[in-house]
Amino acid sequence: MSTPAVAPDTTGLPPLDTPPPAPDFGPATHLSCRECGARYDLGAAYACIECFGPLEVAYDLSGVTRELIESGPQSMWRYSCLLPVASYAGSEPNLEPGLTRLVRADNLARALGMTGTLWVKDDSGNPTHSFKDRVVAVAQSAARRLGLSTLACASTGNLANAVAAAAARAGQDSVVVIPSDLEDGKVVTTATYGGTLLAVRGTYDDVNRLCSELIGEPLTADWGFVNVNLRPYYAEGSKTVGYEIAEQLGWRLPEQVVAPIASGSLLTKVDKAFRELASLGLVPDSPYAVFGAQATGCSPVSEAFREGRDVVRPQRPATIAKSLAIGNPADGPYALDSVRRSGGAIADVSDEEIVEGIRLLAETEGIFAETAGGVVVATLRALLASGALDPARETVILNTGDGLKTLDAVAGHVAPTATISPDVDEVTAALVDASHERTTR
Ligand SMILES: *Cc1c(COP(=O)(O)O)cnc(C)c1O
Repeated sequence: MSTPAVAPDTTGLPPLDTPPPAPDFGPATHLSCRECGARYDLGAAYACIECFGPLEVAYDLSGVTRELIESGPQSMWRYSCLLPVASYAGSEPNLEPGLTRLVRADNLARALGMTGTLWVKDDSGNPTHSFKDRVVAVAQSAARRLGLSTLACASTGNLANAVAAAAARAGQDSVVVIPSDLEDGKVVTTATYGGTLLAVRGTYDDVNRLCSELIGEPLTADWGFVNVNLRPYYAEGSKTVGYEIAEQLGWRLPEQVVAPIASGSLLTKVDKAFRELASLGLVPDSPYAVFGAQATGCSPVSEAFREGRDVVRPQRPATIAKSLAIGNPADGPYALDSVRRSGGAIADVSDEEIVEGIRLLAETEGIFAETAGGVVVATLRALLASGALDPARETVILNTGDGLKTLDAVAGHVAPTATISPDVDEVTAALVDASHERTTR
């Protein structure tokens, strides 16, 4: 009788020489270089070792149906079948972001002279009040699969909130690195969620460089920087904004979409989501144009678009739209590609126009946006004025964050109608004064 090559398994455990099972990344198959197409295994890699190009998640997307998505949870996890996450990601502790409201904005459309339907995708409704909860949720799931126990990031503010809160909910350590001049509404909230918060004297670009340098250090061996070494996974989370818009419109694409640009990732991924849905046959393959919005005080992508360049020249940011203040945007060239390929445009607006944009959206639709939302509304107006955006086409604009985090931006521009004693005569006098002021304004 011959001896069996492998001893019979009596422990229930796999034999010692069995390789560990590959982490479950759902339909994701590998990482692929956006520049040269080189393939890598799914891991904490983010730059191509051949050409230094950024890596992107590649998938085998088969068997995805509307019914499968519609039967999923009331959160972004309904699109798990299109993301690099395990199918049970939603059952692991996380903030369960997404499925935010798509608001029909008839008053705003009228104020801007638009005849086509206008919608606001209002991502201020996420758990930490910005769209960043989506990207963090995917990165957090990837970090778990890769054994990275500390959640870290370089942030312009909203990501700081999202990482600190997601880590708190999952009982993980977090290290959040921000420029020291951020708004109180972002610093105080992040510090309240707990974890380590490092305020760096410098710009976001300095913070980002610091985090890239930290990645080689033994200190950070088990840190997942959501937007640096986990960036390929993080970025995919933004696709869910595009999926939701299409599903909420009744499984079809809008004709125009206006997105803010910081690193350029969100805009690029909304475009990717629309193309995926069309290629999978989940929506009719109808044309759409992608438009980008920046603050003039940090407008490297808008400038490149205006000057017809492919190269995005870094700028030193100086704008009240701090969440968008990335002077050297990693995905700038790809955002340019999306906009040019789809027949859209990119424009930028001054700080004064940003405040007007915030006020216009608040006064017409009751949505109080942060500065990034003001950038989008003001840019929509600028694109209409220049004729780049068609007022007769159905348009979706993205509000990516909540105005309560950037109160200082509007605080000097608005005030109570009057401050009075609790006295009926004073109310009467105040109303008379106010109506007089309105007629003489
Ligand atoms: C981060 C951020 C953006 C833009 O994100 P990118 O993907 O880096 O372009 C837009 N709006 C808000 C409020 C943000 O915090």
